[in-house]
Amino acid sequence: AKAQGSGHWTAHRPGDSDPGADRLLLLEQLRSGIREGELRVHYQPRQHLPTGQLSGVEALVRWQHPTRGLLQPAAFIDAAEQSGIIRELGAWVLTEAVEQAVRWDAAGGPAGLQTAVNLSARQLADPDLVPLVARTLARAGLPASRLVLEITETALMTDPDAALASLQALKALGVLLAVDDFGTGFSSFTYLKRFPVDELKIDRSFVTGMTTDAGDHAIVASCVHLAHAMGLVAVAEGVETAAERDALRALGADQAQGYFFSRPVPASALLPEPADVPG
Ligand code: C2E
Ligand code: CA
Ligand code: CA
Ligand code: CA
Repeated sequence: AKAQGSGHWTAHRPGDSDPGADRLLLLEQLRSGIREGELRVHYQPRQHLPTGQLSGVEALVRWQHPTRGLLQPAAFIDAAEQSGIIRELGAWVLTEAVEQAVRWDAAGGPAGLQTAVNLSARQLADPDLVPLVARTLARAGLPASRLVLEITETALMTDPDAALASLQALKALGVLLAVDDFGTGFSSFTYLKRFPVDELKIDRSFVTGMTTDAGDHAIVASCVHLAHAMGLVAVAEGVETAAERDALRALGADQAQGYFFSRPVPASALLPEPADVPG
């Protein structure tokens, strides 16, 4: 309902611009949608640049909404994060992605394929995160070293001390940690040095400009150099052209992902499903 100038109230109708009511409806639908099995995970392959081999996949959530079709994260992830529903959503994505990794192994997928899952700021601050990750890996039987958790600089900076404690505990489990959207936040080198991360994911905005803009090229080159100087893997995201792929190879970047290789796709489109197991 929304207030009228005269003091009357009228029911909210679809199409009215009442962002608060729309958001509440969306969150209600999302909460039930998670339980009803409406979430999907799409996977975007990652390529090892020197060899061109598939090195891993990034799990990206989608929502098969009953009336609005397949929704991208931009339509619901911020609301989920602000409301706290992200915990339930994040736990679901983690479980699904880890179980899918095991299914690919069973189907004879590439050995050592890594599965990357995104973590939000709120998940990182959740005391149940580390036990959740440990439990999920143990139940599925996936070695921790096959899981990469991607965390944005912004999420790391929300509460750096709490983030550091979580990251150390995750490292102790043996999972790999990546700084996502690197270069767009306000990370200081001090934090980069303190956080026990394994990978830098160079933000798409720099990769997009690197073949036409000398500044963007210099930023990507610096990120690759910094990553390697610190013993980290340099991953480029948002690669859309062969020219970008070639430029990244020339800079010595380790891995890349982007529409040039593949858009995010359902698991069935990426690797074969396991053959039917007798019994
Ligand atoms: P992100 O983690 O930076 O993921 C990469 C995004 O860039 C994905 O968008 C992907 O589809 C898109 N992308 C990949 N290659 C290209 C390219 O070559 N060109 C362009 N223009 N875009 C490319 P998507 O799937 O819409 O996800 C958007 C964001 O939503 C993600 O950004 C991530 O921050 C968030 N997100 C997605 N899934 C999850 C999740 O399970 N949990 C959490 N916490 N966040 C998620
Ligand atoms: Ca990511
Ligand atoms: Ca990213
Ligand atoms: Ca991003």
